Amino acid sequence: MFGDARVIVVGGGIAGIAAATRLIENGFDNVTILEAGNRLGGRINTVPFGETCVDLGAHWVHGEKDNPVFSLASPLGLLESSRDLENMRFVLSDGSHLTLDAGLRLFERCSIVLDDLTALKEFRGSVADYLRSRYDELLQDVELSPDDSKAFFDWMSRFECSIEGCNSLDEASATGLASYKQCDGDPVICWKKGGYSTLIDILLSREIDLGTKTRLNSVVTHVDWSGTDTDGGNVKLRCADGSEHYADHIVLTVSLGVLKQDSIAFKPPLPANKVNAIKGLEIGTVNKIYLYYENQWWPDDCSGFSFLYKDKNSSEKKSERSWTDEVIGFYAEKNSPRVLCGWVVGEAARNVEKLTDSEVAEACTNLLRTFVGHEFSVPQPAAIVRSNWFSNPHFRGSYSFRSMHTEEMKTSASDLAEPLVNNKGLQVLLFAGEATHECFYSTVHGAMESGWREADRIINMYTK
Ligand SMILES: Cc1cc2nc3c(=O)[nH]c(=O)nc-3n(C[C@H](O)[C@H](O)[C@H](O)COP(=O)(O)OP(=O)(O)OC[C@H]3O[C@@H](n4cnc5c(N)ncnc54)[C@H](O)[C@@H]3O)c2cc1C
Repeated sequence: MFGDARVIVVGGGIAGIAAATRLIENGFDNVTILEAGNRLGGRINTVPFGETCVDLGAHWVHGEKDNPVFSLASPLGLLESSRDLENMRFVLSDGSHLTLDAGLRLFERCSIVLDDLTALKEFRGSVADYLRSRYDELLQDVELSPDDSKAFFDWMSRFECSIEGCNSLDEASATGLASYKQCDGDPVICWKKGGYSTLIDILLSREIDLGTKTRLNSVVTHVDWSGTDTDGGNVKLRCADGSEHYADHIVLTVSLGVLKQDSIAFKPPLPANKVNAIKGLEIGTVNKIYLYYENQWWPDDCSGFSFLYKDKNSSEKKSERSWTDEVIGFYAEKNSPRVLCGWVVGEAARNVEKLTDSEVAEACTNLLRTFVGHEFSVPQPAAIVRSNWFSNPHFRGSYSFRSMHTEEMKTSASDLAEPLVNNKGLQVLLFAGEATHECFYSTVHGAMESGWREADRIINMYTK
């Protein structure tokens, strides 16, 4: 129907796939995805590991109501709850542990406070200051020594960083956090099998052959939207391999981390409010370390160990902390037998990326032995696989968040999402990707909706 309109989608993550499939389903035949890596999926990356597979990127479907991922996958019977808090153990670095009652009560109270949108919106300061300001009230009738309650606060801060994607709660904005919308329903739903890439299979199962429309290993380095020398189109793209591509519209879906590293040259340069958004919005690093064991050494009724570091949480000592003082914990993977997944955020997550697999496996074993070695005999893992989201130049981070800097710069996702109009008044450069979503940023459903949003924008241009 719209066979003549040439659309190039830069990036084959879920936003790019959503945009391309929507366009094709609506009669746009001339759609090409230029993807820098050697696979589709981007921050959805399911890899074989142990007896099944694990996800190096997106892990859970967050919520049910108004969550398009849930709406697509749930009717097919592909999802199940992975909430198993009652079986999580809060273990301390001195070998002791919190009572389940104290740990869970405090965890649930902190979670409620961090979901209190009215209070967050009104608070002028960081999420760390906000949580600190309410912590005493949460401690009431929870029996914890001052040292243990400090260690719990430190753990909760790192845990919240893994949810928000920030490097430290001190840099995350409380008001900014209030702009994130949690979909109602179970917040931690997992895929029964096949991992998160099952979502891509669903999007492609509607007889859409993206294979012939995708060019892998195509790193876009130049975007010329000046309208001159563009082969009758509006935009010319150049890739690192020297190839040139012409289009009427571009949907740019690369991560905020890629935009921040300035590896794509724009001609004319991006306008000030776009540059402001790229500078002001933030992206943090969250990494996962998967360990596979020949035999499961933790009990069946244990869903994981949350690490509470004692005597390591004073701010003076923060700079001396090694990444092994920052691991949030190790958790059993519901559908991957004999696999534990460790989570690490921020500077610590970036530091792990510099090490070899065997160094990381050894350090993790020592860490597990420190925390639970008196109770369990912790063997060396038989295999390890882990993510490197920061050092990978096609991502430069894990997911976006709102920082104190975002507030100062007075910018928002809508500035990043705003399409650019050329000198003929045409919207030629469109922006999608998780960081462009006003309220579902940092998620798969947000990224997917952003891809659909920009595809619909193009479709509307041609159907009006
Ligand atoms: C560790 C981790 C855990 C997560 N957990 C969850 C979770 O539990 N639930 C959830 O909903 N979300 C989660 N997320 C977030 C979710 O994965 C992302 O929000 C989403 O996948 C982003 O999709 P996207 O299409 O916007 O970006 P991307 O997936 O980053 O896609 C962009 C694509 O652009 C390509 N690219 C980059 N530069 C260029 C270039 N110059 N030229 C061409 N192509 C380029 C990249 O290779 C990439 O494929 C997690 C992410 C990580 C990293």
